[in-house]
Amino acid sequence: MIGYMGGRRLLDSYGRVADDLRISITDRCNFRCIYCMPAEGLKWLARDDLLRFEEITRLARIFVQRYGVRTIRITGGEPLVRIKVEELVGMINAIDPTLDITMTTNGVLLRDKAQKLAEAGLKRINISLDTLHADRFHEIARADMFARTMDGIEAAREAGLWPIKLNMVVMQGHNDDEVVDFARLAREKGYEVRFIEFMPLDGDNIWTNEQVVPSRRIQEQIEDLFPLEPVKDTRPGPATRFKFADGRPGGVGFISSVSQAFCTTCNRVRLTAEGGLRTCLFSLNETPLRDLMRSGVSDERIGSVIETAIWHKEEGHLINKPGFIKPAKNMSQIGG
Ligand code: SAM
Ligand code: SF4
Repeated sequence: MIGYMGGRRLLDSYGRVADDLRISITDRCNFRCIYCMPAEGLKWLARDDLLRFEEITRLARIFVQRYGVRTIRITGGEPLVRIKVEELVGMINAIDPTLDITMTTNGVLLRDKAQKLAEAGLKRINISLDTLHADRFHEIARADMFARTMDGIEAAREAGLWPIKLNMVVMQGHNDDEVVDFARLAREKGYEVRFIEFMPLDGDNIWTNEQVVPSRRIQEQIEDLFPLEPVKDTRPGPATRFKFADGRPGGVGFISSVSQAFCTTCNRVRLTAEGGLRTCLFSLNETPLRDLMRSGVSDERIGSVIETAIWHKEEGHLINKPGFIKPAKNMSQIGG
């Protein structure tokens, strides 16, 4: 194990530093969430097109050791459908056991995986949950898996994957009447619930601005019952975070990607399952790293390609502005 050797950071031309790496490890998923994937699914990548665990680990090592990346989030598609995902977590953890390795999952396979992931070095987990009603869950995820998902959340807690964050994509007319129930759940169980604005990255092209519930409105609803106090983060992230003013455990966070974009402080960089480097969720192109790696080039060379790509990171996305173009890939193909 060799840690960050100091010196270089991944700087873009607007002065931001990329130090939060999100790695998608599969484009496949066992759900078909209405805000993400088409009902009929997508054509999956061929096995050979996916980055192998060794290739993912090599890239992770470059990001960590050369550029000081400290947070690595494993996502997808659904990361837990990739066989032996816990081995990958172990391989990344071996780069530096102090790394903040996290995962975003729909949770349905956690009863089997949570303990193995924790033992391999996963530190924290975000579990997506959009409703507390089984019938709605079936409608939104297009999978009848509410009970298994709730049990998966319990399994994560039992395995010590803590704190647990719950991601809720709030959509007008689908689940916006449940935000207070989610705040109550946060208080009862000590979770942090993150309310996410619906972004135009769905596979069915159903996004309209009218379906976005602005964070400000959600916050007002919650504060009518449970006053909130801002949490000052040492490392600012995309979520504006709050704890409950009466001292109850848990908290809430708002990811206002549409109503109050956080592009000016964005520190994220993404790797798709096929090894494409994306500097923004809404990038219209990506920098392919897989074939470069497979052609036998040095870490030095890969590093210089990464540095150039990050330098050209977009200033910000253009949702609701003239000139916005929806990316050809949907959220499950990019890695949220
Ligand atoms: N399958 C895993 C899951 O659902 O947690 C990980 C991948 S998923 C693409 C990552 C996150 O993106 C999830 O929390 C999901 O709710 C969110 N997401 C997907 N499509 C979205 C959209 N159109 N707008 C906002 N968030 C979205
Ligand atoms: Fe699958 Fe996650 Fe997309 Fe839902 S949000 S379809 S669980 S990748």
